[in-house]
This record gives sequence, C-alpha cells and structure tokens, in this order.
Amino acid sequence: MIPEFGKDKFQCPHCNTLATQEWFNSYNASSAVTKIFNHIFLDYRQGVESYVQNYISIFLKNTNRNFQQVFTKYIPTGFALATCSSCQNFTLWVDEKIVYPKKTTVLPPNDDLDEDIKALYIEASSILIDSPKGSTALLRLALQKLLKQIGGNGKNINNDIKDLVADNLSPQMQKALDLLRVVGNNAVHPGQIDLDDNIEIARKLFDILNYIAYELITKPKELESLYSDLIPLETQEHIKQRDKHK
Ligand SMILES: [Zn+2]
Repeated sequence: MIPEFGKDKFQCPHCNTLATQEWFNSYNASSAVTKIFNHIFLDYRQGVESYVQNYISIFLKNTNRNFQQVFTKYIPTGFALATCSSCQNFTLWVDEKIVYPKKTTVLPPNDDLDEDIKALYIEASSILIDSPKGSTALLRLALQKLLKQIGGNGKNINNDIKDLVADNLSPQMQKALDLLRVVGNNAVHPGQIDLDDNIEIARKLFDILNYIAYELITKPKELESLYSDLIPLETQEHIKQRDKHK
C-alpha cells in the first residue's frame, strides 16, 4: 500500500510498516485544537464559582465556531501532514501530493535483470516524485535494454516488440511492452499523455517493467532449470525426437 493522500493506513516511507496515519490539515486542525482547548478549560473550570460556568460554556462554544475560520488563515488548504503511528515520523503533503520524504515505495527491480538495467530502474525510482517524466524516460531506456537482454536488437524498441509478436508473444505481454514503449515515448517527445501531473502513471510503469521481466526472463529461466533437473536426459532426448517427426 503506497502512501496515498487521506488514507487511514499506508506503508510508511520511513519505517516501511503498514501503519495507521494521523492526518493534520486546515480542516481537522480546528477540531484537534478545540479538544485541547476544552481540556485546558476543564481543569480551569473545576476551580471557579458555579455562576461563572455559564459564561465559560458560551465562551467555549463561540471559540469552537471561530477556530475553523482562524485556522484556514494560518494553515493553507493545500497543506497536510500525516504522522505514522508506528515510528512517529511524518509525511508532508502539498495539494494531495507527497513532497517529503522524497524516496518512494516502488518495489525493487526484478533480480534477473542485468545489473545496468537494475541501476536504471533504481535511478528512475529516485527521481519519480520530482520528475515523473524523467523517471518514465529512464524506464523506457530500461525496457530497451531488457529487450536486448532477451535477445532483441536493442536499438529500436518497436522492432524488437514486432519480432517478439511474430514469435507468438501473448497479447497481454504485447500490451505491457507497448504500454511502456508508448508512454515512454511521450516522456521523451512531446505527446498526448501529460506525465508532469501524473506520478501514478509513472509509478505503475515500474510494476509493468517488473511484470515483463518476470514473464520474459524469470519464468522461462525457472522452467528451464526445473526441466533439466527433473526430466531424465534420456527422456529429454525422446521428446526431442518426437517433436522432430511431428
Ligand atoms: Zn513509520
């Protein structure tokens, strides 16, 4: 659960725990302060004559009403803080977007990717919040290198995808590849998809890259090693002969 504005619970970027979040903004600041204020006067009221109680009560009611107005003056509407119940650290939000801490909680890159691709992925995640566009451009480059890792030419993403489709690629995988390619192109050349405002699109592309890596690298690799571990060599030979004569 990545941090999301207004959510009661999310994975804290400081301690990585899925923890309850206490929100503070101009809307709920007044009720928080009213509670504190009332509490202070509760103590005070115990020591005053009963005929004053009524005045204090009216005073408290009026202040309560005025707080909301006063607070919007000092706390801008776009400002919010969420405090983590687990580590007590806070995230800072402006206009419903997280601005502190800068690091994000995208999942780590697939371990079967080449080292330079993993490095690109991590670099892309480190600039995601400041520049979804730059982040997406780096992921596009990572895809280009991934296609080379699985035997493509690595020069032209479109051609590499075309070759894979000709080689019986699943329509689902084709969509995943083209999603990264087309959105990535929009990050590099001016296009129709505006990435400046859309950190969520950029964030999803990280999952898509990992999904592609899992399907095209990890799964075949695991299958291959299971096959060579479990199927006796003699049987492997029979299978080869069978399919030759088909
Ligand atoms: Zn925390």
